[in-house]
This record gives sequence, structure tokens and C-alpha cells, in this order.
Amino acid sequence: MPHLWNAEHARTVSRSSSRPYDYLIVGAGLYGAVFARQAKDAGKRCLVIDRRPHIAGNVYTEKVEGIDVHRYGAHIFHTNSKQVWDYVGRFAEFNRFTNSPVANYKGEIFDLPFNMNTFNRMWGVTTPEQARARIDEQRRAAGITDPRNLEEQAISLVGTDLYEKLIKHYTEKQWGRPCTELPAFIIRRLPVRLTYDNNYFNARYQGIPVDGYTAMVAAMLNGTEVRLGVDYLQDKAALDALADVVIYTGPIDAYFGYRLGALQYRSVRFETEVLDQENFQGNAVVNYTDADTPYTRIIEHKHFTGGTQARTVISREYSAEWKPGQEPYYPINDETNDALYRQYRALAEQESTVVFGGRLGSYTYYDMDQVIEAALQKAEDLLG
Ligand code: UDP
Repeated sequence: MPHLWNAEHARTVSRSSSRPYDYLIVGAGLYGAVFARQAKDAGKRCLVIDRRPHIAGNVYTEKVEGIDVHRYGAHIFHTNSKQVWDYVGRFAEFNRFTNSPVANYKGEIFDLPFNMNTFNRMWGVTTPEQARARIDEQRRAAGITDPRNLEEQAISLVGTDLYEKLIKHYTEKQWGRPCTELPAFIIRRLPVRLTYDNNYFNARYQGIPVDGYTAMVAAMLNGTEVRLGVDYLQDKAALDALADVVIYTGPIDAYFGYRLGALQYRSVRFETEVLDQENFQGNAVVNYTDADTPYTRIIEHKHFTGGTQARTVISREYSAEWKPGQEPYYPINDETNDALYRQYRALAEQESTVVFGGRLGSYTYYDMDQVIEAALQKAEDLLG
């Protein structure tokens, strides 16, 4: 494994140096906070910095009208890993929220993910055999045997009718590219099941921190020095001099000054409104799966925690191609970008005292639990 040498080297330098910190952690999101906690518990001196004026990266939540607002989009914690679930449980109490989004297609409401309720609404079928037969018939009619892109994958999973109403336009709004040019794995994130089960995730554990993600990340960072509003790449040399090893969780291409070209990302813009009504849409997440509605979904934040406030807060989510100066949210893991990422990865392996991690540092469409798992693994490699 190429980064083992890095790990060994990082261990060695950290024993012998007189710099003020063992680790400079760039980014106070989940990867950085978990790494900082592990390093602190191992007796290391850490400094965490973040360009933004707050901790918690894109899982940041902020109270508005007494409701935790997910400022950078809905985050629903889910994992199959008992280790990760127990780990987050040390820093936050989780509720038993189960994500069951609905899709609104021109006023027709469908349950998600794709399950017997969805198939019943679409075709009037009532049994798994009938649903299976419809899907198989539509897949055969489309002539798909070996799906090579998101469109073919989607049709082969749920048939053309559901692809047209629930996937095609939502996906093209979300990613700004035709479904025929997107990787199939994106749609395999969603379960397809022949049971009447609207749980969006196939995960053993699921929930939302009852006091918000910011409090959870603050608990992880408790006892570690954090400096906010500090832009690492603006002041790299001076900041590098502070620590033996840098844990960098920003975009990997930005670290290298985009010298091989820019990786593509999707960004998201939110229009958040406080409404003088108790319940706007009756659900935390409603996806708008038609082409004409300009936003992809509306989040009603109070429903994540069963809030009973008199007012409500909603966010309309608009997807956009990332441009410099905006926040990157999603890596676009198509072949071109993945090939460029591999070149950056090769450069990264030459940086013997820098570890790249997190969604942006690894250019990977990670879920929160995967970020935590990766940070714990890296901490174990480096700290022993
Ligand atoms: N998707 C869709 N219709 C929906 C919801 C999701 O076609 O109503 C597709 C879309 O391509 C999306 C992908 O499934 O990018 C993954 O959805 P997920 O909810 O996992 O996306 P995230 O919450 O990470 O934005």
C-alpha cells in the first residue's frame, strides 16, 4: 500500500520534532474532528483550522426558531458498522429518525426508496411477483443486459416508467449531465425492495443527533485548539511550520494549485425560509422529480427531530456546477474526473508529511459513516 511509507514517515518525524504541534488538521468537518479526537486521546498536540467561521464542515447545523437547520443540506446518519455507531454515540445522543422521503412528480406523490408502495402507486400492482414481472418486462423491452451507465442501471433496477418519473429529471438536475453520461453506482446508493418498506436506507443503525451535528462535532473537538477563518492555502508555509504532519481535508486539486487541471464538483445553493405555519410539507424531505421545478428537493428541518414549534423552516435545494469561490459538495466520479484524481493521488503520495482525507481530500462520494471509518483507520495507521 503506497501510503504505508507515509504513515511510517509521519510517525518518525512526529517523535523527533520540536514544532508546537504534532498535527495540523486542515478542516473541522467530520474527518478532521474524528482524527483530532483520536490524536488527542493518544497524547498528541493538535491544531485544527478551518476557512469557514464555524466547525463541523458540511454537517454544520444551526438553530433557527429553535430548530436545527442543516445549513449545507440534509444529513441523516446511517451505518451498518457497530464500531462507528458506538463511536458517534460517545459524542451525541441520537434519535430514532428513519428517512422516508417522498417524491412529488407534477403533484403525484410516490414513496421512496423504490419499494412495493412505489410500485403499487405506479402500476396498481399489489404483490412482489407482479412488481417483478413489470420491472423485468420493461428492462427486456429496453434491451438492457449489462448496464453501462446510470440510465441503463436505473431502468434495469426499476423499469422505464419509474425511471422517467422519479429518476431521469431529478438526476439531471442534481448532476447537470445526461443520465447516459453518469456512473451507475450513483443510483445503486438507493435500495430497491419488493416489500412495503419506505426506509430510505438499508442500514442497521440510523438517526439524527438530538442536539444537532454541530454539538456532536464540538464534543469531538473538546480540548483541542481550533482556529476558525484561517485559510490554509493562503498561508501554507507559515502554517506548515507549526506541525510535523498535516491532515488535509480540503479539495485535493486545490492543494496542488490545480496544476493538472481542475476536478469537477457539484455545488448546492439553498434558499432557506422561516414560515409562519406549523407544518409545511408533512415530511422532512420531499424530492421534486420533474424537469420544470428548478430545485431538486425541499427540506423541512423540524421533522428530523419531531419539532413542535409554532413556526417552521424550509430549504429549497438548487444544484449547480461548482465554480471557484463556492463550496464544493459532491465529487463527480465519472471516468474523466476519476482519471485526473488518480494523477493527483500520485502527487499526494509524494507529500510525505501530508495525509489527504475526507470527501474532498479523497474525491469520493462518501457518506458520513464512511468518512468516520476512514478517519479512524488513518488514526490507527498513524498513531498505532
Ligand atoms: N435519485 C433520483 N431520484 C430521487 C432521489 C435520488 O433519481 O428521488 C438519484 C439521483 O441520481 C441522486 C442519487 O439517486 O443523485 C443518490 O441519491 P441520494 O439521496 O443518495 O443523494 P444525496 O442525498 O447524497 O444527495
